[in-house]
Amino acid sequence: MMKGQKLKIAIQKQGRLHEGSAVLLKKCGIGFSNGFGKLKSEAEDFPLEIYFLRDDDIPNYVGDGVADAGIVGENILAESPGKVETVERLGFGRCRLSLAVPKGLDYENVGNLAGMRIATSYPHILQKFFDSKGVKVDIHEISGSVEIAPSIGLADAVCDLVSSGSTLFSNGLREVETVMQSEAVLIARPDLSAELAAVLDQLLFRIRSVMAARENKYILLNAPLDRVEEIARILPGMKSPTMMPLAEPGWTSIHSVISEHDFWEVVDNLKRAGAEGILVLSIDQMIR
Ligand code: ATP
Ligand code: ZN
Repeated sequence: MMKGQKLKIAIQKQGRLHEGSAVLLKKCGIGFSNGFGKLKSEAEDFPLEIYFLRDDDIPNYVGDGVADAGIVGENILAESPGKVETVERLGFGRCRLSLAVPKGLDYENVGNLAGMRIATSYPHILQKFFDSKGVKVDIHEISGSVEIAPSIGLADAVCDLVSSGSTLFSNGLREVETVMQSEAVLIARPDLSAELAAVLDQLLFRIRSVMAARENKYILLNAPLDRVEEIARILPGMKSPTMMPLAEPGWTSIHSVISEHDFWEVVDNLKRAGAEGILVLSIDQMIR
């Protein structure tokens, strides 16, 4: 099974997406070393070769067929749309591209920015945004430290990536408009050979199992037998909850899987229904 062609996947060498990308692959059971300064690494137990690149370069490498797949932020893809396909959203590296103005500036709507100089590393996305609003601005492309542009007189406002907003705040800026939401995505070149497409499918199957596991928790609890029916109704589980008798007569242990989204609501309802000794564990993989 492990013979034949290897799928080349590009991930960020260092920076905000490196850790999430490397951890995702490792959780998929793919072992590799990412020693400092390495350009690429061979996976030990999967037909995969991992390339470590600057995030901005990843879509081009994949588009040109130098790599077969990659992990990159949607913001990078939207700035330079190319020949790559988005295969799956990966649920990490979440951020937004936002417009921010100096704290003292009056702002009601995008119209207030007409004629202003706006600094950004995302001129293409921003131009499209203002075109769609019918507002004319002067977009000034800079490659880094966009947030300091207003304080040094280089721009009137900025458009930059934000997650908590603390960088903007500490530079005297106020976020006023979300231009786009972004997260890390798996991309691939559209013209993969059948052999490599099969490897990508196998990888994708594992990635989906890891992501499903992240969204779910394994729950164990003890319940008096006369409450089991009510508790089972609160716990949908994958099929139906598992029950195991406790040594103490009249009690049973119940195991199930619950979604992270309504987690606290479920736990509250379980307690109200008489559940005791509730344990919640994270899941490594969930195969559906
Ligand atoms: P490189 O050296 O690879 O070019 P970089 O400095 O361009 O790195 P990072 O700052 O590491 O890039 O960000 C990489 C990606 O992480 C962004 O393109 C974006 O998709 C995502 N990201 C998530 N949160 C943030 C944030 N708060 N600020 C910037 N990027 C973020
Ligand atoms: Zn970059």
